[in-house]
This record gives sequence, structure tokens and C-alpha cells, in this order.
Amino acid sequence: MTREYLKKATLTSASGASDVHDTVVTILDDIKAGGDAKAMEYAAKFDNYAGNIILTQAEIEAASALVPDKLKADIQFAHDNVKRFAELQKSTVADVEMEIKPGYVAGQKAIPVDAAGCYVPGGRYSHIASAIMTVTTAKVAGCRHITACSPPRPEVGVAPAIIYAAHICGADKILAMGGVQGVAAMTYGLFGLPKANILVGPGNQFVAEAKRILFGSVGIDMIAGPTDSLILADKNADPHIVATDLVSQAEHGYNSPVWLVTDDHALAKDVMARVPSLIEDLPQLNRDNAFAAWRDYAEVIVCADGVEMAKCSDEYAPEHLTVMAEDLDWWLENLTCYGSLFLGEETTVSYGDKASGTNHVLPTSGAAGYTGGLSVHKYMKIVTWQRATQEASKDVAIATARISRLEGMEGHARAADVRLAKYFPGENFD
Ligand code: NAD
Repeated sequence: MTREYLKKATLTSASGASDVHDTVVTILDDIKAGGDAKAMEYAAKFDNYAGNIILTQAEIEAASALVPDKLKADIQFAHDNVKRFAELQKSTVADVEMEIKPGYVAGQKAIPVDAAGCYVPGGRYSHIASAIMTVTTAKVAGCRHITACSPPRPEVGVAPAIIYAAHICGADKILAMGGVQGVAAMTYGLFGLPKANILVGPGNQFVAEAKRILFGSVGIDMIAGPTDSLILADKNADPHIVATDLVSQAEHGYNSPVWLVTDDHALAKDVMARVPSLIEDLPQLNRDNAFAAWRDYAEVIVCADGVEMAKCSDEYAPEHLTVMAEDLDWWLENLTCYGSLFLGEETTVSYGDKASGTNHVLPTSGAAGYTGGLSVHKYMKIVTWQRATQEASKDVAIATARISRLEGMEGHARAADVRLAKYFPGENFD
């Protein structure tokens, strides 16, 4: 056997999905029909909040005053790194054109979407970093309207550091509303907001399901659901660091899978022995999340060799992928399915999650098999254009008319015919 499971998940991220779907459909339908008032009803129901929904300048300033200076500096540091990386990404998108044939020019333009709705999760933790990742990147892309929305804590409202981060990163409006109702408010243009062209950002299964259902009437970055992480480790890896990193990602939520894939049986056993006490050592909420995630969703797999480890990892297509093994270049070259890759012990998912500059909104639940994470590109529409001289349009028109007639599309053919007749009177094109 090339793969031995020392630990296998008993649940998957799809568990309970149909209940969530039904709940979300009901909430979206209600809010579509009932507008602002219905959204506020759900905010009161799920988040026990009845305060102001669109934060005023005075509220933003008051919240900012509560953020300690050191944290402000850290937020600024992370923002600067994310901004510089997003600017690099933007530099790879070019407006280009070519002469397809003499006189016939076709081109591509990258146009930012007008209005971005950035979901900043805030149920269990105050995801300050999600505000930095989503809002900064929208700003660099050039979106004209940027709304950040985040769930308020009962009675006290949105966490001050989230408000501060969203504000300095460039949010025009901050919406104190979370979950499906927050997503619906940005999509339907409630509370005087512009209707979002794209919804971005991670969230729990209700948020992810709302984005999935609304996709089509609004764009989405991806389904960024419960975080998942995989570590590839060989015999040289430090078992304490491997175990610490697994626990660091399991604390995201009770349903956040962490996977260890190794070719070293002894390392696997060592890491498994360390994880429970590291979880035990966490604060209560984090401990509960990590304990459940490790119990129900975690896997430890021993493979025959590095090639099999890479194959196994690509099949899981993890959101976060860490390599603690020899020859990092080989892994960079050969791994193909991941949201973000962390090469070597000197970096870690936490750095990418918070401050190093790459985006932390990443594909989960295997979506890394078909997409990367949030980037400037997700906020941009790559559109095309063309223009031609009459002479250059001649053979395009002739080919178009023939293809259209073979397809049975007479109307299309006549759009070509009418131009041929106008520009080249008297010529026969049969
Ligand atoms: P959240 O903001 O996503 O969800 C909170 C909201 O859920 C509340 O406002 C409430 O309206 C709604 N809700 C709660 N229970 C509900 C119910 N029974 N019915 C309907 N709505 C309900 O915050 P969270 O719950 O802490 O989840 C954050 C998620 O984001 C985690 O799963 C975490 O792993 C994920 N995350 C992912 C990334 C990434 O890049 N993929 C980054 C950060 C966080």
C-alpha cells in the first residue's frame, strides 16, 4: 500500500450542507422581499444587534481611537505589504492590442468592476486581516465603490480594529451587518449602498452558501468556506513546529480540516502525540474549535515517497499548503493544486494569513483544483474590442456569412452581407 491513514476524517466540509442551503434560501428570499427592515430583523435575530447599520464618520473615528497605536502600526505594515503585492499583480494585467490582419485591430482591456462588496468575517474571531486583504486589493484594482461588511457583536457592534483596518485600506462604506443579511444587503443595494458587482471574502458556511446562490446576479471571488490546511513533511521536519502549525489552523473553526502527509512513520506518530497537548494549551474558544476540527476533520497520511506525497496533496487541493521537506525547489516545481504555498519552516500559514503580503482569501474544499485565491485580477474584467477598415473587413465578412449560413443563422449572415453590399457594390461573394 502506498498510503497508510493513521487518522481519517469522519466528517467533510459538505456535512450538513443541505440544511444550510435551505436556511440561506429562506433568508435571501425574505430580504429580497422585505428590504432594509427584514435585513435588520435578521441582524437582531442572529447577532442581537439593533444599532446603526452604515457607520458614520464619527463612529469610524471613535472606533479608530480605541485601537492601540502598536496595533495600528501592525495593520499599516500588513496593509503596505498586501498593497505592494497587489500592485505587482496589477502590473501583470496589460491593455494590449494587435493587428489580426492589416487594417483589422483587436484588443484587450482590463476594467475594474465598479462596486465591490467585501465580507469580513467576525463571528468567532475578529478577522482584521480579512478587511486588509479584501479592501486593499479592491482599492489597488481601482473599484470606485468599496463596501466592507462585518457582523456586529451583540450591543457593541463591529470590532474597532476591523473598522479601523477597513477604513485605512480604502472602504467607502462600512456596514455593521454579517452573515447572509450582510451579503444580501451588498448584493441588493440595501441601506443606500451601490449594488455590488462582486462579492469577495471568506465566511462561514452561511456566507459561503449565500455567495454560491447569488452568483450570477453578482460576481464572486470563489467559495471561501471553512479554512483547510495541509502540511507535507519529511523526516527532517521539526515535529513540534509541524504540530504547532496544524493546531494553528485547526483553531479556525470546528470544521476546519488539517492534514499531515509524510513519508516518515515516526514523524507522523510524533506529531500526533504532540497535537492534543498543544490544543489543550489554547484559550477556551480556540481549544474547542481545534479539538473538534482535529477529532472530526483531521487526517494523517503516510505515503511511500515524495512523489506519492505530492500526488496525494494535489488530490486534496488544499487552501494552504506547507512544505517542510528537503529540496524546496522540487516541491515548488511539482505541486500544482493549492491556494497558497509556504515553502520551508521559516515561513508559515499564519504569516500569509495576517501580514506577509500574499492574499489570505483562498479557495477551500478542493476549489484549488480550478482556481487561485483573491487577487487584483478577480476585481477586473478582461474585455475585448475590435475595429477595422472597410477593406480589412472584406474577407472576415465573407467567411462570417458562409459559416453563419452553414449554422443556419441567416440573420448573422445578413449582417455580413449588408456590409459587403455597401462597401463593395457590384462584387459577387457567392
Ligand atoms: P462569519 O462572519 O462568517 O459568520 C457570522 C454570521 O453567521 C453571523 O453574523 C450570523 O448572521 C451568521 N449565522 C450564524 N449562525 C447562523 C444560523 N444558524 N443561521 C443563519 N445565519 C447564521 O464568522 P464565523 O462564523 O466566525 O466564520 C468565519 C469563517 O471564515 C470560518 O469558517 C473561517 O475558517 C473562515 N475564514 C476563511 C478564510 C479564508 O481565506 N478561506 C479566512 C478567514 C476566515
